Amino acid sequence: ERGRLARLRHKPAVTLDGQRVELLANIEMPEDTAGAVKAGAVGVGLFRSEFLFMGRENSARQTRLPDEEEQYQAYTRAVEGMQGMPVTIRTIDVGADKPLDGKSASKQEHLNPALGLRAIRWSLADPAMFLTQLRAILRAAAHGEIHLLIPMLAHASEIRQTLSLIDFARAELDSRGAVYGPLKLGAMIEIPAAALTLKTFLKHFDFLSIGTNDLIQYTLAIDRADEAVAHLYDPAHPAVLKLVADTITECRRQGKGVSVCGEMAGDVAFTRLLLGLGLRSFSMHPSRILAVKQEVLRADTGKLEPWAKGVLDADDPAAALAG
Ligand code: PEP
Ligand code: MG
Repeated sequence: ERGRLARLRHKPAVTLDGQRVELLANIEMPEDTAGAVKAGAVGVGLFRSEFLFMGRENSARQTRLPDEEEQYQAYTRAVEGMQGMPVTIRTIDVGADKPLDGKSASKQEHLNPALGLRAIRWSLADPAMFLTQLRAILRAAAHGEIHLLIPMLAHASEIRQTLSLIDFARAELDSRGAVYGPLKLGAMIEIPAAALTLKTFLKHFDFLSIGTNDLIQYTLAIDRADEAVAHLYDPAHPAVLKLVADTITECRRQGKGVSVCGEMAGDVAFTRLLLGLGLRSFSMHPSRILAVKQEVLRADTGKLEPWAKGVLDADDPAAALAG
């Protein structure tokens, strides 16, 4: 099976009816690009940049975060590692299940860390840190195609603040005479409030990326890290599927890019459904790419579209998916 899949590495991901599908990699460190290229990824759909910031506590329990130069070099290595293919860098998503260090782990005595200060909320609460990251990413964009992805947005006010900080980071680089490149701007759809206000998001962003891991958590009120309720963490819940389907449909209607970068994208049980809902861009752990490609090569989207509508309307989509 492994050997058979390996032969698919250089085969383009095209369905039986000729639909091109983009299979991208999720990475945590710049060095992961080697595995992504090897697996046949055509780009990075999610570089979880927080991994550059995590686990940097020294023996004195002090944390030194990566400065602009260190980040710039890391992002540039990722871009070079992808050999001209696009790299989507998500700004820092710490807090909740991704503690920055011992100190912030203890901050998790906050009652509900998943509902607290994490991701873009954290960045907007610490503009100096966020601006440092934005400048590093802008500078790295002079070396290749970078798409900037913002996690956990829900409010129009957060979108406004984020965009104005991006402008401010550019102005800072201008005033220094530093070289930087253009960025495509994207937002993650991982809070139901975002999926229910797509118009606002599409006004401001070039593309959207659906983070199903958190979208499931927040739609179903199931802590993704809590074993006691893990049996209720259901990617096939009709409410989750509706939010995913609506996001794909609205992006396509407006001609904007849309991808799924949560675990659902790398789960072959969902490949046909996502194709049937109109998705043409999937981002996943590199180890999943060949198996998903095999599903894509066997798929006929013309047949999958009406079937996917039926799955969406079913009381028990999981059964409809299996059937
Ligand atoms: C997601 O929420 O689906 C996602 C891709 O982000 P993370 O798993 O890093 O929260
Ligand atoms: Mg997430």
